[in-house]
Amino acid sequence: MRLQKRSDYDAVLKEIAGRVGRLAPTGAVADYIPALARVNPDQYAVCVQTLEGGTCTAGAADTRFSIQSISKVFATAMVIAKKDILLWSRVGVEPSGNAFNSLVQLEYEHGIPRNPLINAGAIVVSDELLELYEDPKKTLLHFVRELAGDESVDYDTEVADSEYATASTNRALAYYLKSHGNLRNDVEAVLDLYCHQCALALSTKALARALLFQANDGIIPSSRRRILTEDQSKRLNSIMLTCGFYDQAGEFAYQVGLPGKSGVGGGIVAVVPDVLSIAVWSPRLNEHGNSVLGIESLQQFTSLTGLAIF
Ligand code: GLU
Repeated sequence: MRLQKRSDYDAVLKEIAGRVGRLAPTGAVADYIPALARVNPDQYAVCVQTLEGGTCTAGAADTRFSIQSISKVFATAMVIAKKDILLWSRVGVEPSGNAFNSLVQLEYEHGIPRNPLINAGAIVVSDELLELYEDPKKTLLHFVRELAGDESVDYDTEVADSEYATASTNRALAYYLKSHGNLRNDVEAVLDLYCHQCALALSTKALARALLFQANDGIIPSSRRRILTEDQSKRLNSIMLTCGFYDQAGEFAYQVGLPGKSGVGGGIVAVVPDVLSIAVWSPRLNEHGNSVLGIESLQQFTSLTGLAIF
């Protein structure tokens, strides 16, 4: 079934919110970042943004949350936009099949992270951003504001500080990268940027809007500004499809059938190319670090609407 009207999406989202609301709560908030451990686990929101400009929501779609690893997509887009595929000598494009912060894999693979959407890869992306942009923290913030069409988007500095203060594993990854010559800048400067990008706080509504350019061949629909070439946009979607959910990427592709990205703040955002973007937020995570109800909602969305890429 192809949904066209705004009211169709409204009805589907209400149906999904009702269904997942009746499920017994499972999973837990990420507690290895102290500021995230304090989040109320039982919040929920879902939002569809269509290429025509329609917005449909259910739940607390204006409440902001920490987008965490979803920011890796925006940071990667900023590098691809400047360097095309040159980055891929420092970071691969293969699914990791391992935990998002695996040290073991980085050691086996001699300091070349599998892809830019796991922590080690994103740390290399932050390193690139420090060289490509004069003030990458500010540029990234303005970039995400532009994508989301929301000038009030900001870093949650409490989350950034909390993560920076407790980032022992990410520090270990960064030093390991450095020992292999795959980190050029000062480790602390790279981690400061990385922790800030993870601490971007967006509402579900703003998040869906922020990834809409990836449903539109790399062009922001509202302003018509091209962010990525069609080819670059295709590649970024491919990386999301194969690597966006860590060691659950295969299962997400199997259950949902869309390119997307999750974060340990409980958010997930995905695109149906040429049609829409969809964001969902529910802080309880499964053992892979992905939102339990987020995956459930998206699985229901593509099953109810037939809107998957397959
Ligand atoms: N900031 C988190 C970390 O580095 C991101 C992980 C995630 O969202 O998957 O551990």
